[in-house]
Amino acid sequence: MTIKFGEILEITLLLLTAVSNADAKKCSRLVTAEMRTNALENVNKYSWAEQEQKNAILYAEPWVKLSDDELWNFITSQELPRDIHTNKTVGCPNCEDGIAPYGNYPWKYDFWNEPWKIKCPNCDEMYPRNDFYAFYKTTLDEHGMFRRELGDRSLLFNAEHPDPKDPLHKLYVDDGYGMVDENGNKHHAVAYYNQWAQWRAIYNGLSSLGGAYTLTGDKLYAHKAAVILDRIADVYPEMDFMPLHKMGFEHSHGGPGRGRIEGC
Ligand SMILES: [Zn+2]
Repeated sequence: MTIKFGEILEITLLLLTAVSNADAKKCSRLVTAEMRTNALENVNKYSWAEQEQKNAILYAEPWVKLSDDELWNFITSQELPRDIHTNKTVGCPNCEDGIAPYGNYPWKYDFWNEPWKIKCPNCDEMYPRNDFYAFYKTTLDEHGMFRRELGDRSLLFNAEHPDPKDPLHKLYVDDGYGMVDENGNKHHAVAYYNQWAQWRAIYNGLSSLGGAYTLTGDKLYAHKAAVILDRIADVYPEMDFMPLHKMGFEHSHGGPGRGRIEGC
């Protein structure tokens, strides 16, 4: 049986919320201090362990360079949908089923260099055409949660057609809940990015920082991982896939719409 990282995270958070403050975690449990000491001894003794440490530091590097605020802001909340597909029926808005040979989850993305954009692997078209992050920043409530209704909708326009009189001004513009193509079909570009780029990066960041702490003992890595976990704990109580399921967002829950950050 394969356990997804998201499931481990959910179990961990459930366990954390189940204990009282008196029982709150005071030390690492899964990887103990003794295990970390052994790992550091191995780094000093064996070249393979030294290489593992170098790799762990490399993977964690982009994350440990970020400020606590930057890490905190990466965590998106319930009302920004997640979807494993954009539109399975139409495919790519531009090349349609030209994208089909590229698999179930074909869209490309670059979390660090092209935030909130997905790219067709067949025709290289990028979506959405609006600056979604500019809109996103205006949607945040006093707790930093995405509330679509708070957003500045004047920021929702096709950046290649900024003139409001241009008939293409609103084409391929996504406010988080999908963009509409020339034929009126909806595509979940931002939700796809949120699922595969944003949340996968968050999981990878946690895993990389945890790995680097384990193999170096440097508490800066543990601190950065704790910032991410702390913010996930903030958004987790609201997380519920069912409302998204009812609106047509898809995930791997086998049909009934169960799940929180992801389907399960
Ligand atoms: Zn395409």
